[in-house]
Amino acid sequence: MADTMRAQRFYADTKTIAVEDVLIPEPGPGEVLVKVAFCGICHSDLSLINGTFPAQLPVVTQGHEASGTIAKLGPGVTGWAEGDRVVLAAGKPCLACVNCLRGDMSNCLRIRLMAFAYDGGWAEYTVAQPFGLTRIPDNVPMEQAAILADAVSTPYGAIVHTADVGIGESVGVWGVGGLGTHMVQLARLVGAAPIIAVDIKPAILDRALAVGADYALDARDPQLAAKIADATGGRNLDVAFDAVGLSSTFEQALNSLTVGGRLVGVGMSADAPSIGPTSIFNLFQRKVLGHLGYQNADIGTLAQLVSLGRLDLSRSISDIVPLEDVAAGIEKLDKADGDPIRILVQP
Ligand SMILES: [Zn+2]
Ligand SMILES: [Zn+2]
Repeated sequence: MADTMRAQRFYADTKTIAVEDVLIPEPGPGEVLVKVAFCGICHSDLSLINGTFPAQLPVVTQGHEASGTIAKLGPGVTGWAEGDRVVLAAGKPCLACVNCLRGDMSNCLRIRLMAFAYDGGWAEYTVAQPFGLTRIPDNVPMEQAAILADAVSTPYGAIVHTADVGIGESVGVWGVGGLGTHMVQLARLVGAAPIIAVDIKPAILDRALAVGADYALDARDPQLAAKIADATGGRNLDVAFDAVGLSSTFEQALNSLTVGGRLVGVGMSADAPSIGPTSIFNLFQRKVLGHLGYQNADIGTLAQLVSLGRLDLSRSISDIVPLEDVAAGIEKLDKADGDPIRILVQP
């Protein structure tokens, strides 16, 4: 194996990126080296580049949605072998905070996010902790496996864990891009009804219907509230997911809830939306829930659903760019060129 590899690097001081030769990392004790097959481009990658998210390191390799094969085991690693097909968790618990020390790693207070706190997957190789790996069945394409690590699992976590959507509950999804498309599909899988997709582009609204929404409504339609009421027999929504995270989407989703309904915030921005007067908030017994990420076991659940044909992600890969063209892929997502669900980098 060569000593060096190609990797994308983000420089915090100039907010610029480059693809460069760097040393192939050596897996330490309890770590594995993974040869990256594919790694998604996510809006949170854009947020680091444009400064919405603060940089944690002066220079870092981005990309946190990766599939690959194990290339080398570090000392002391058991249960895994070179060549195993895996998806990498997009974060590492610190193992030192009070929650980690009581065994509650999924609620780590200082979770270290891949591509922010340590080098990510827009590179030929990356290092991972074995307990963050998920084995991928042979019949699941590596392209689809990659997006399980965020674009599919974050919606899964929002629907199954944070919102705990039940059969027959009415669900709205604001923003039907990389996250929202999979929210619609997973809401359908858990039996939500009706499912109402809200966006502003006709092509995206058509696509939302194709992946399982019962209704697709334009966020700018002055009749939106009346149409949501109509679609739900006058009840409005049990659960509203805001996959965008702007004040406008958050507040529109909040005001579409039925009494006791819950808003789940998934998309992120620097906006600071209002929950409105406390009199209304309390009177309607609204619940506002922040959501981040997923549990590692969720990736295995999703891989099984794909493997058994229950979840179809074949439409989710909009484009694949070579690592050398990562900048073009980032720009394409930033401009929503072709309304991508997910663009992948292939190192
Ligand atoms: Zn992401
Ligand atoms: Zn911790």
